[in-house]
Amino acid sequence: MYTLLLSPHPDDVVYSAFFYLKHDQKRVCVTLFNVSSFNKWRLQSKFLTTTLRTLEDKLVLSLLRCKSVHLYLEDSSVRVCRKPNPSLWVKESPSIIVAPAAIGSHIDHLVTRELAIKLFEEIKNCELVLYQDLPYAAKISDLKKEEDALSGVIGNIKERVLPLTKEEIKKKVKMAKLYFSQTDYTALIVEHAKRVGKEAGFEYAEKYYLTSFTR
Ligand SMILES: [Zn+2]
Repeated sequence: MYTLLLSPHPDDVVYSAFFYLKHDQKRVCVTLFNVSSFNKWRLQSKFLTTTLRTLEDKLVLSLLRCKSVHLYLEDSSVRVCRKPNPSLWVKESPSIIVAPAAIGSHIDHLVTRELAIKLFEEIKNCELVLYQDLPYAAKISDLKKEEDALSGVIGNIKERVLPLTKEEIKKKVKMAKLYFSQTDYTALIVEHAKRVGKEAGFEYAEKYYLTSFTR
């Protein structure tokens, strides 16, 4: 029994699915597109950016005692998209797959979502949980429209709002700040967690989408 977390880029899972990262169950986070030239200083070096971003991700995931796997695929800042082959890194069936909902339609997030759906359809007795991609979900004014588009792909969606305590949101911010090569969106994320929490009667929360797929 373990939870498989799919992160298109280093930082996505920490930003968007912290609830599942802090879970007690055994966790494996697979970061797909960690070859990158995207950083807040606009340095052009692919080597330096990839090294930094991968190290940031490994540090954070090890602090959270989550096993990490990096696929070294090129992200949209440098690439030629290749479709990742999950049979190379999913040796054992997970009980939960946590993946991006691709709110904001970033191409790397769309590819990761498509892969997660494919995996979910192949694996029996497994739950697929899609996370709200942050910071995109916090910046979009018409989130409803994005959710409707998501329903078009996965059928009727069921929302799951999971609480984070004050201590947990503090830890999430601390971890997110360790991705120091990237723009700091933590204020926006805390504000979003407050808004999502308020709707469900929690102080802070994260929102996830469950599929209504039947096999
Ligand atoms: Zn991303």
